[in-house]
Amino acid sequence: MNAYVRGVMQRLETLYANETEYLQCVAAWLEMVEPALEQDPRYERLDLLSRMVEPERMLSFQVPWIDDRGVAHTDHGYRAQFSSAIGPYKGGLRFHPSVNAGVVKFLGFEQTYKNALSGLPIGGAAGGADFDPRGRSDREIMRFCQSFMIAMYRYIGADTDVPAGDIGVGTREIGYLYGQYKRLTGRAESGALTGKGLTYGGSKVRQEAAGFGAVYFLSRMLEHRKQTLEGKRIAVSGFGNMSWGVCRKAAELGAKVVTLSGPDGYVHDPDGVCTQEKFDYMLAMRRSGKDAVAPYAERFGVEFYAGKKPWEVPTDIVIPCATQNEIDAEDAARILANDVKYYVEAANMPTTPEALRLLRQSRTLLTAGSKAAGSGGVVVSALEMVQNSLRYSWSRKEVDRRLRSTMYDIYDVSVTEAERCGLGYDLIAGSDIAAFRKIAEAMIAQGL
Ligand code: GLU
Repeated sequence: MNAYVRGVMQRLETLYANETEYLQCVAAWLEMVEPALEQDPRYERLDLLSRMVEPERMLSFQVPWIDDRGVAHTDHGYRAQFSSAIGPYKGGLRFHPSVNAGVVKFLGFEQTYKNALSGLPIGGAAGGADFDPRGRSDREIMRFCQSFMIAMYRYIGADTDVPAGDIGVGTREIGYLYGQYKRLTGRAESGALTGKGLTYGGSKVRQEAAGFGAVYFLSRMLEHRKQTLEGKRIAVSGFGNMSWGVCRKAAELGAKVVTLSGPDGYVHDPDGVCTQEKFDYMLAMRRSGKDAVAPYAERFGVEFYAGKKPWEVPTDIVIPCATQNEIDAEDAARILANDVKYYVEAANMPTTPEALRLLRQSRTLLTAGSKAAGSGGVVVSALEMVQNSLRYSWSRKEVDRRLRSTMYDIYDVSVTEAERCGLGYDLIAGSDIAAFRKIAEAMIAQGL
């Protein structure tokens, strides 16, 4: 690290000493974009980095609600409005007990650079609450969402900040959030949230988008080696939205996802998660609110491995779809020992720094980062905003076509940018630098 970059990091460490995920993602990013900084003295002269690594505004609020037994709860909500350099703040909401200020800043930071890569005019944000939706009734979820929106509604809007879903927030939660926003503002402002239901302004393919996008991105990596998805075996973690989309698109293109996982362990399905019945069962497991994958093994007569991660199953491709830091150095060593050829981050920052270093050293493994490969969800969110402002709705085919070509564009820009910096075929550095340049130029153009 050069002295300027080190100074920026030190300032952040002083300001946010305990926010580990946030400091981790910024440190990894600084390492990637350093070559671009050295090519252009304006970035340091204007101290752009200090402003790029910190949210423009951070909201922190209490969310009181009453459960079905009449017991009062007070959870904590956040919204990191990270960057408005290229458009309104935009990004997901996560409801999970692990959510805190550092997690929200990390997600907001990643989102900013993901969104810049999408080619659409959206800034970056993230939010959420430490609320645990596990085992909560539908009415409890509704009351929580309503209370959350009471605290947040003044700060969002179609031209201000556009929240969407993430872990623990799907179409149902977005519906309750949107309903409350409409009541509070008296406006049917559909562009204020994305991931809406199809009956009130949602986009087709939004639910599948995150997983589809990762597989489209992967298909270009395979093409680089003159290969296709046909007959490939894929290990996936998680069983939520992202994994569901990956299973479906992989099956359509002739590959097989052979693992799914949850907090309880993983299942190994050698025949592949590739039938409609299995796709639907994944949705049913999610709806049950139990957050466990073991029922899949029982239902389809396959093996369940309690407390284990799926990376011990030898496959051609690994796609972590669950959560941050789920792959540590030990997992990385196992992936390399299994001679995996493609590693595609779909969840946000699923790889610890040590693990990523190990994986990137391999000559035989191609690695893609989540800011590029995991951007399918927000790409379709941005397309949802376009449709909302047009007061129109595109066909499924049209949205899918746009998603695919955007993922291809993100792949191409990552390859080109890395080559331009003399880094060879480096998708992570290439995508980080491409997004960095775009935001930096927008910031310079708009002044301090
Ligand atoms: N949580 C999603 C992501 O990581 C959704 C963001 C959005 O659609 O705004 O990209």
